[in-house]
Amino acid sequence: MSRSAHPAGPRYADVLSEGHYAAPPADLNRLDPKVWSRTVGRDADGVATVAGIPVTHLAEQFGTPAYILDVDDFRARCRAWAEAFGKDADVFYAGKAFLSRAVVRWLTEEGLNLDVCSGGELSTALSAGMPAERIAFHGNNKSTDEIRRAVEAGVGRIVLDSFQEIARVAHLAQSLGKRQRVQIRVTVGVEAHTHEFIATAHEDQKFGIALAGGQAAEAVRRALNLDGLELIGIHSHIGSQIFDMAGFEVSARRVVQLLAEIRDEHGVELPEIDLGGGLGIAYTSDDDPREPHHIAKALTEIVTRECEAAGLRTPRISVEPGRAIVGPTAFTLYEVGTVKPLEGLRTYVSVDGGMSDNIRTALYDAEYSVALVSRRSDAEPMLTRVVGKHCESGDIIVRDAFLPADVAPGDLLAVPATGAYCRSMASNYNHALRPPVVAVQGGAARVVVRRETEEDLLRLDVG
Ligand SMILES: *Cc1c(COP(=O)(O)O)cnc(C)c1O
Repeated sequence: MSRSAHPAGPRYADVLSEGHYAAPPADLNRLDPKVWSRTVGRDADGVATVAGIPVTHLAEQFGTPAYILDVDDFRARCRAWAEAFGKDADVFYAGKAFLSRAVVRWLTEEGLNLDVCSGGELSTALSAGMPAERIAFHGNNKSTDEIRRAVEAGVGRIVLDSFQEIARVAHLAQSLGKRQRVQIRVTVGVEAHTHEFIATAHEDQKFGIALAGGQAAEAVRRALNLDGLELIGIHSHIGSQIFDMAGFEVSARRVVQLLAEIRDEHGVELPEIDLGGGLGIAYTSDDDPREPHHIAKALTEIVTRECEAAGLRTPRISVEPGRAIVGPTAFTLYEVGTVKPLEGLRTYVSVDGGMSDNIRTALYDAEYSVALVSRRSDAEPMLTRVVGKHCESGDIIVRDAFLPADVAPGDLLAVPATGAYCRSMASNYNHALRPPVVAVQGGAARVVVRRETEEDLLRLDVG
């Protein structure tokens, strides 16, 4: 946990997870704009609303659990990123955070580009009209079929991740009579997470080709010599949920150093550098993410400075935010089923979803916040753990949460900042039916990804 410690209250000190607030927030009814999408508020009756629609209406109409996505917020974030980086840079939305055809349409209209990393994401993008030249294809083990489809479709770039792939893409492109624009993904020896980053010479992970030991330089040599490839740049992605720019600084310096080596050895200045994604968002009121224009300014300055020092023309920069665009735009709406007080410990509040719609708490020990949204309550704060309905004691959505002590079955709870890596990582564990994604805008709501049905599950099970 990167969170700084807070003074422990006598009542909760021994049962709170390390690093969590020991004291309840001053106002449990407050919906902090930092973690909720921008059209969220409460109406005169105390019911939370989004885009002017009470959540009670959404629950009635669409059922729970449901992901509720604020379209104006999504589009505003796309615009903020596009404007922050301007004409001389490219913003690629990382589709793995959450991809649907509606998302692709919004991205296309807002002028963003799109990262995909599987045939499924590629077909979603193409079927919703994203121009192929605005698509980048990632992945450490793209299949031959995926590569062929990407080349045939004419994707703007394939990000090469291994020596085998350099040969594979070159061969496929040539056999299709094409010259594929590619970048090489390098590992720069920076592992960044939230407020810490570690810079090392080597990196022990599956992605990319190491700068260390001349591996990346060898990859460049091969790519430049293959007719099927047009090498346009170097790619680096250093981590996720990052708040501190220092890791990007080390990464950019090391990538620019490689660009200088390439110029010295081959006499070419590669025109592009991609610094990846990983920019953090606020999951709780403690988190302080930076605005896109700060990030754009910082990254542009770092690259410009390093290039000047190396005597290189500044390459075109691209970035790949996923979480930072879609994460804050959605919340998950649940209904409380049972409330179980454990004397001297905490109260377990069970909702009608769980690790099948949000695996991040179990998988990464991620922190979330939660609020009672179907009504206002003036009851005392109570320490709870919000859990799902799965057959697993690790099925936790919010590990330590203060909720009003009168929280009861039938109440609606909402967990904000679930737009990224929740629906996209959802599973059918316990044959759960994956929740719908409901897009809300200007007082209207519509399903953009429908709820799964038992027929959907049975259709896959051919008996
Ligand atoms: C996951 C990923 C991203 C997006 O990461 P976020 O944390 O969602 O911003 C961008 N680029 C690459 C290569 C990735 O693997």
